[in-house]
Amino acid sequence: MTRMKPATQAIEFIDLQTQQARIRDRIDAAIARVLDHGQYIMGPEVEELEKRLAAHNGAKHAISCASGTDALLIAMMSWGIGPGDAVLCPDFTYTATPETIALLGATPVLVDVHYDTYNVDPVSIKDGIAAAHSHGLNPKAIIVVDLFGLPANYDEIVPLAKQNNILVLADAAQSFGALYKGKPIGRLGDITTTSFFPAKPLGCYGDGGAIFTDNDELAEVMRSIRLHGKGADKYDIVRIGVNGRLDTIQAAILLEKIEIFSEEVESRRIIASHYCKGLQGSVGLPYCPDGCLSVWAQYTIRHSERDKLARLLAEQGIPCNIYYPRPIHEQPAYRHYPVAHNGTPNATRLAREVLSLPMHPYLDSIVADRIIAAIRNSVQI
Ligand SMILES: *Cc1c(COP(=O)(O)O)cnc(C)c1O
Repeated sequence: MTRMKPATQAIEFIDLQTQQARIRDRIDAAIARVLDHGQYIMGPEVEELEKRLAAHNGAKHAISCASGTDALLIAMMSWGIGPGDAVLCPDFTYTATPETIALLGATPVLVDVHYDTYNVDPVSIKDGIAAAHSHGLNPKAIIVVDLFGLPANYDEIVPLAKQNNILVLADAAQSFGALYKGKPIGRLGDITTTSFFPAKPLGCYGDGGAIFTDNDELAEVMRSIRLHGKGADKYDIVRIGVNGRLDTIQAAILLEKIEIFSEEVESRRIIASHYCKGLQGSVGLPYCPDGCLSVWAQYTIRHSERDKLARLLAEQGIPCNIYYPRPIHEQPAYRHYPVAHNGTPNATRLAREVLSLPMHPYLDSIVADRIIAAIRNSVQI
């Protein structure tokens, strides 16, 4: 039976139900297959998913893991990052990015982002490296975040990183499926990581993540770290590892969801361009450079009176979220970490101005028009 949507149905910020209704039979069957074979840990679906993920993202190796956070952790563990090392990281990102650096005993050095793309500003890299040196730290890597689904400026970042002898870890937690000048995210950094948290563009029904690399040796090390540092067999432990596996049930769910993923990305792209056209001239709009395909994990606008705008939209039944209300360096837990030498003015300003609008593949143009009209009216008050 198909359920009719009433015309005045509440607007959802992220609608996961419509997608579930669409593929529910296939998800049920996929979960039932796992219950039947009973290999809940590292079952056949995990390997099958890794093959699909590698193909989808153009990387030689895809290593599934328990979350996007574990993916970052395992990647940096494979490089041996630890105390005395500095890892550059944008000041405007989700907490998981700097958290993994600090957990390894290394020091996050916060760098600035571009005001219009929200991603790492390559100019800030040398300031970050200078800050690391002035704290007596050894700059080892940079975590580049593809915020809100848009790949960062890798054509400038990667050569700068190479010149300075630092590794590039692409945190593609929000950008699975995106393209940077035709290149899939699996090939953006020395290692790329992603997340399958339910609200990410490709989400499972729990926690999940993956790591991508073309490097055979690193891939083997990361597979070992994911399984408690195992060597030739389960009781041959060759390094310190973690319990970082993806559940078989989550892999089975992702195998069904990835079937409709490209279509969903196209729907997100259409909604984003609808927002762009409708909102032109009223608020600051997210900028997607030529040749890049964003997966629009979020559609994030800017406005100098952001809090007032958010309140007016909430009164009109339009749910919005603030990603992120503070730059990392203003978080109590991160206040003592070094910031790039010229500071992070854009990150600081963005935290005051950004507002993310409802965005998901099942948002139709009538609802988008309602949201656009509400924003246009609100900014005139
Ligand atoms: C979601 C997210 C993570 C962490 O992913 P989890 O799967 O929730 O652990 C890391 N970095 C960024 C930028 C994210 O958005």
